Amino acid sequence: MEILQQVQHEEKRIYSPKRVFTEVKERVSILEYAETLTGLRRYGEGSWLGRCPLPSHEDKTPSFVVYEDGQAHCYGCLFHGDVVDLYQAVEGLEKPSHAAGELAVAHGIELGDRTDGWRRWQSEKGQILDAAEEVRKQSFRRRSFRLLVLPYLDGAGADEIKAAWGDYEAGLREYGR
Ligand SMILES: [Zn+2]
Repeated sequence: MEILQQVQHEEKRIYSPKRVFTEVKERVSILEYAETLTGLRRYGEGSWLGRCPLPSHEDKTPSFVVYEDGQAHCYGCLFHGDVVDLYQAVEGLEKPSHAAGELAVAHGIELGDRTDGWRRWQSEKGQILDAAEEVRKQSFRRRSFRLLVLPYLDGAGADEIKAAWGDYEAGLREYGR
């Protein structure tokens, strides 16, 4: 609720992928995100070690290091990147903008205005943020939420966003809360 009020009081801004990237990297901790994926222990000054969380890497001996400066590196599969890169790799998303956009919504960071569909999006924002609160808890909701967010990030029009909402709400009805 607090997040929603905060968002409603922010001035309307135009969607800028660059700004969203910057804000996500400033405000979303790679360490906190990585801890939701894998067990981490102190490795050295400002760094933590655990098994690699990437689906493509079966890491038998821990080789994944998270640095408190916002980067992660895997000495097994040679993944290297920031929180957006890590989220993209873990979630198997096609575009970095999708990863940044999902992280932004999940953390209450304003995406901004973009298309004609935005007016509807704005009016539904309360519901979207409520959904975002739930989204990390269940894989179904994560998938359905993605159906909702990605068309927006790709600049979908009002009809596509309306259709995505229909799919999302139908999914919620079918699978329950
Ligand atoms: Zn790895």
